Amino acid sequence: MINVTKSYLPDLDEFTGYLKGIWERTQLTNDGPLARELEAKLSEFLGVKHVKFCTNGTVVLQMALKALNITGEVITTPFSYCATTTAIMWENCTPVFADVRPEDYSIDPEKIIPLITEKTQAILATHVYGNACQIERIQEIAEQYNLKVIYDAAHTFGATYNGKALMSYGDLATCSFHATKVFHTAEGGCIVTDNDEMAEKLHLYRSFGHRYDDYYSIGINAKNSEIHAAMGLCVLPKVPELIAARKQVSELYSDTLDFSLMTRPALHPAVGYNYAYYPVVLESEALLLEVREALNKEEIFPRRYFYPSLNTLPYIVDKQSCPVSEDIALRALCLPLYPGLEEADVQRICSIINTVTQSNLALDSKQ
Ligand SMILES: *Cc1c(COP(=O)(O)O)cnc(C)c1O
Repeated sequence: MINVTKSYLPDLDEFTGYLKGIWERTQLTNDGPLARELEAKLSEFLGVKHVKFCTNGTVVLQMALKALNITGEVITTPFSYCATTTAIMWENCTPVFADVRPEDYSIDPEKIIPLITEKTQAILATHVYGNACQIERIQEIAEQYNLKVIYDAAHTFGATYNGKALMSYGDLATCSFHATKVFHTAEGGCIVTDNDEMAEKLHLYRSFGHRYDDYYSIGINAKNSEIHAAMGLCVLPKVPELIAARKQVSELYSDTLDFSLMTRPALHPAVGYNYAYYPVVLESEALLLEVREALNKEEIFPRRYFYPSLNTLPYIVDKQSCPVSEDIALRALCLPLYPGLEEADVQRICSIINTVTQSNLALDSKQ
């Protein structure tokens, strides 16, 4: 069976080496030495001053909104994972959806402007598939209208923008270290900032708002454990090879697939890519379903990232139309991509897809 992704597992002896240390110290959580070591290494890897290692990539979005005092309307992307929207709603803010750009499915800055009201406080955008948003234009709009910018950078680990970590842009940015992501700690995530005061605030938020007997603010429990940190310390040094292996698989897809009936998002020229996903957008949803069925028959399971378009979720009260996102969401499919995916399997996946494409082309020409 081939899934859309397969978690990278480090050398078991290396992992148990870290576990032995945890057993000796008997400290399992609460800002332990491995969590702090991981944060220091992440901070160096990403080139940001503060990295707060947390339990997942969703709670950090909630912390970001809380830390920036966002209580009103948040202009956000409809083309992302549902956590981007639900974090806004969980914080009792209102998501307002700006449609995405047809070129790369990232939030369209020009669609943001007409949605700004006196209640708008922030823009929450996703660097979808590890590709960059229109960062400069979004920043310009944010400055003009006095809005905060939060990036859901869950897909960006190892990706750069103008040579700096893509995660380092925005007032705050968050990442997910879920098992399916480029870098993972089984479950986990982080929020990054260069600002000392903000880092202190986030540090308190992460552990109930207190230090020992001193209580400073409300907080939540978003601390991650030493065991998860151990996983991160094993996986982090492998990230460059993991990305290189993903690149190889991605390039093989690009060289082998027949693109007559499908397209790919355009990579932003300033991005050093991390090959987080391999999305293709089929000509129609019918074709996507046909391709998926042909692959499923061979025990190959691509995923519809991202479907449905978030503005159409059943719990969105004020339905807004986002025609580009709704259209792309119906036609986008992420193909299996992970280090260790065999070349022969990639060839097989391409050949199944190309056969479907060819038979559809033959049908088209008969009609
Ligand atoms: C994975 C993901 C999240 C959620 O991260 P978790 O660690 O699973 O909570 C949020 N946003 C996007 C865009 C994601 O892909």
